[in-house]
Amino acid sequence: MEKPDLTQIFGTYVSWKLDSATWIINFMNGSQNMYLLEGEDKALLIDTGWGAGNLKAYVQKLTDKPLLVANTHYHPDHAAGNGEFKSVYLSKTYALDEASMAGVPFDITKLPHPDYEKICVGSGDFIDLGGRRIEIIEARPAHSNSTLFFFDESHGMFFSGDDYESTQVLMYTGDNNPSLKFDIRERLDNLKQNALDILARKDSIRYLLPNHNGAPIAMDYIDDFIGLVDHIYSGDAVIEDKLNHPFIEQDALAPQLCRVRWGMASIFVKKADVLDVYGE
Ligand SMILES: [Zn+2]
Repeated sequence: MEKPDLTQIFGTYVSWKLDSATWIINFMNGSQNMYLLEGEDKALLIDTGWGAGNLKAYVQKLTDKPLLVANTHYHPDHAAGNGEFKSVYLSKTYALDEASMAGVPFDITKLPHPDYEKICVGSGDFIDLGGRRIEIIEARPAHSNSTLFFFDESHGMFFSGDDYESTQVLMYTGDNNPSLKFDIRERLDNLKQNALDILARKDSIRYLLPNHNGAPIAMDYIDDFIGLVDHIYSGDAVIEDKLNHPFIEQDALAPQLCRVRWGMASIFVKKADVLDVYGE
């Protein structure tokens, strides 16, 4: 049997409807999601994948509305495909995560719009699709330095990027940016505070929609992430040396990492970092 090529690995999409005007676009053999939201006038694509070059054509099979595009954060599996589009809404702080793009498996300078327009947005901004208004909420730095949450109150949908998901949230320097100091206490406090911001909207959220490992997920995960931070500080969160993640186990950093759990919430973090604040 022939080996699959890079486009088949990173650019094979399947999709299904979450409601009458919202698509989940799933790729990476089921582990990763993008989202397509239709309003009366326009559609919004949340995230652009790895840059395989075939996403726009796929999305245009799902919708014929004029397409807007946004990034949950500036990591390569969410933003490398931006150059397929003329303009993209992203965080004002995207440049802090720009070095992470070094891990892209494709030559993204060959995409149709390598110098696409970056429209920087943040809390207080909305994207209006016609009868469907998406609120943008800046997350404090936790998983990334450039996370935007998207809240669609009209459809009860909250898009949480990589900051909350069912399997594990990566909480270590993945930004490849040596000028940034990774302060574990600040990151954990931000993880909790961002979760409290989501909980404040709880009554309006029907679907919590992360980008990895299954969606939608129950709001109970948000409670457990708050518990995880509290129980790291109180010294009774569960620390496991075995990562159980074949891809990250290949990373040069892997021997320094551990998994920390509380309830259903789980993070990957440098063990030295977590021991620094554990049971303080
Ligand atoms: Zn990420």
